[in-house]
Amino acid sequence: MSETAIRIRGLRKTYAPTRQAGPKEALKGIDLAIPKGTIFGLLGPNGAGKSTLINIMAGLVVKTTGQVTIWGFDQDVNPRQSRASIGIVPQELNLDAFLTPRETLDLQAGLYGVPKSERRTDAILDAVGLADKANAYSRSLSGGMRRRLLLGKAMVHSPQILVLDEPTAGVDIELRRMLWGHIRQLNATGVTIILTTHYLEEAEEMCDQIAIINQGEVVACDSTSNLIATLDAKTLVIRPKTPVAPAPALPGGVRCEMRGDGSLALTYSRSQIDAGAILNAIASAGISITDLRTEDPKLEDVFLALTSNRPAA
Ligand code: ADP
Ligand code: MG
Repeated sequence: MSETAIRIRGLRKTYAPTRQAGPKEALKGIDLAIPKGTIFGLLGPNGAGKSTLINIMAGLVVKTTGQVTIWGFDQDVNPRQSRASIGIVPQELNLDAFLTPRETLDLQAGLYGVPKSERRTDAILDAVGLADKANAYSRSLSGGMRRRLLLGKAMVHSPQILVLDEPTAGVDIELRRMLWGHIRQLNATGVTIILTTHYLEEAEEMCDQIAIINQGEVVACDSTSNLIATLDAKTLVIRPKTPVAPAPALPGGVRCEMRGDGSLALTYSRSQIDAGAILNAIASAGISITDLRTEDPKLEDVFLALTSNRPAA
C-alpha cells in the first residue's frame, strides 16, 4: 500500500466563460503528493485556486485534465471508491434549515450508502459537541454549531481523508480552538487532514506540511519547518543604552532599521554573515547594548516572499 493519501499529476482546470467573464484558468498544472497521516495545509491568497483544487479532490468540481488519485483509487477509473475515501467540509454554511442535526447526519449516511447498523450518528454528534442539539432545527443553531455539524456531516462515511476549506474563517477564537481540537483528535486516530486557511500562524502551528499555491500553481511545498528555514533572513534587535544616530557602519549586506522605540533592527542573511560580526561592528561604533533579541522569519514572510513580484492575473 502506498504511503500517499492523495496524488495529483498535471492537474488543470479552466472554468467555462460566463456572461461576466471569459474562460478562467484556475489551475495551471498542479503536481502534489499528500502523505498519509499528515495535517497538510494549503495556503494561498484569495483566488489562488485552493477551493477549486480541493473541490476536484472531493469530486465536486470536474477537472479539465490531469490525474487525481485518492487513497490509491484513480478518480476516473474508480470514482465511487475515490469519493468514499474523502470527506469535505465546505466553506459555506449551507445546511437544510428544516432538518435537525440527527436527520442531517442520517440523510448524509444514506447518500453515502452507510448501512443503518454501521451508522455512528450519536458518536459523531458527541464528537462535535452537538449531542444536546440532536433534535433542534438547523436554522436554530449558531454559526459555530453549524460549522461543527458540517464537520460531523463530512465524517459520517468514516473517510480516511478529511478536507476542510477555510474552517476557521469568521469563527471566534474559542470555537477555533475547539475545532482544532477535534481535528487534532481525528488526525491522532489516523485520519489524513487537508485544510486551507488564511491564518498563517495557525497553519504554522497546525500543519506538518504546507503547499503554497498562487495563481493556480504550487509555488512551494515542504515540511512547515523547512519552509520557514528557506527564508534565510534573521533579524537581530538591539536596544542601545543611549539613542543612536546616524546608523552605525555595519558589515555589507546588513540592513539597519531604526524602530520607534529606539531599538535597532538589523536584518541579515544567516548563511552569509554571523551575528558575532554584527555585534563586533556595534561595539566598534561605541554603542553599548542594554537588551538583545532575535526574530525568526514567520511563515507569513515566506508566503510574501514567494507570492510577491508576480503580476496579478
Ligand atoms: P481560492 O479558493 O484560492 O480563493 P478558487 O478556487 O475559489 O480560489 O478560485 C480560483 C479562480 O477561479 C478565481 O479566479 C475564481 O474567480 C475562479 N473561479 C472559481 N470558481 C469559478 C466558477 N464556478 N466559474 C468561473 N470561475 C471560477
Ligand atoms: Mg476558497
